[in-house]
Amino acid sequence: MGEDLKEIKERLPLLDYLQQQNWTARPAGHGLEFVGLCPLHPETRPSFYVNAHKNLFYCHGCGQGGDLIRFVELSQHLSFRQSLTYLEQHSPPPDAALLGQAAAFYQRQLDRYPEARRYLEQRGLHDPALIEEWQIGYAPGGSLRRHLLAQGYSFDLLQRTGLVNPRGHDALYQRVIFPCCQDGRIVNLYGRSTGGAFAHRFLPGSKGGLFAWESVRHFPTVILVEGLFDLASLWQAGFRHATCSLGTHLTLNQFRQLCDRPRTVYLALDVDVNGSGQQAAQELAHRLRTEGITPRRVLLPPGHDPHSFFVQGGDARQFQSLLEGAPL
Ligand SMILES: [Zn+2]
Repeated sequence: MGEDLKEIKERLPLLDYLQQQNWTARPAGHGLEFVGLCPLHPETRPSFYVNAHKNLFYCHGCGQGGDLIRFVELSQHLSFRQSLTYLEQHSPPPDAALLGQAAAFYQRQLDRYPEARRYLEQRGLHDPALIEEWQIGYAPGGSLRRHLLAQGYSFDLLQRTGLVNPRGHDALYQRVIFPCCQDGRIVNLYGRSTGGAFAHRFLPGSKGGLFAWESVRHFPTVILVEGLFDLASLWQAGFRHATCSLGTHLTLNQFRQLCDRPRTVYLALDVDVNGSGQQAAQELAHRLRTEGITPRRVLLPPGHDPHSFFVQGGDARQFQSLLEGAPL
């Protein structure tokens, strides 16, 4: 057991795990310490610290702390032993065929639940061709498990993939679903809550490569945004050379994709009040430069991301001038 524990924690560093769960953070002081909003309790000011060197977390808000296993116990409401099982099953590559089936199922639900279309509309995503192209779906909750069991998939596999939670319920419910791909295969599903639940949710495992990368990679100039609604706004405004990292930080794989040829990358990351987006953009620009990429930072009006820029009346011409004025 002791050896297994060590191996799990080495294979899956706490920080990686948190980032896969879409936790966003900024460096705290020097060394390998990061701070962000606590995933374990509601808060508006970041008090959740992760020491990547020690592989430990501590929250000054709720007083919880510990290692990866402890975090899984608390966040997934599992026992110590269940958490180990959960983590052992966390890394193997997902069953692409199964995820494809789940994505297709969710896609069919989109038209059966008007609230899902309404949600997309409210978020400014209104182009039916784009909704189709991205295979956007809806998880109403409570019906996927039955559907997949009827297709012959085992309950065990559904649990291991994370589509069904340890209690046997659909893990994604009342969420708009975006399939995430890697090299043309679906490797994860991103669920955006349409209600009050925690906004962002992935299945366990890698969040995949840069979004829609297959259709963007041939451009010599690329715009990088953080969120899918940012990306949708840009595509709908005609900026089809935009891609999305699904979070403030790029995974190593996403970073490599961006650097797979010499190109100019416009960083249109969120300008948030605590400055973590700006700091992330600066660090990313530096890393890109060392790889021979020309980074340019798009200066959005304070408090804006590309999505809010367009929703609040910005148009393609105005965004184009932001691109042209973007400093190196
Ligand atoms: Zn906390």
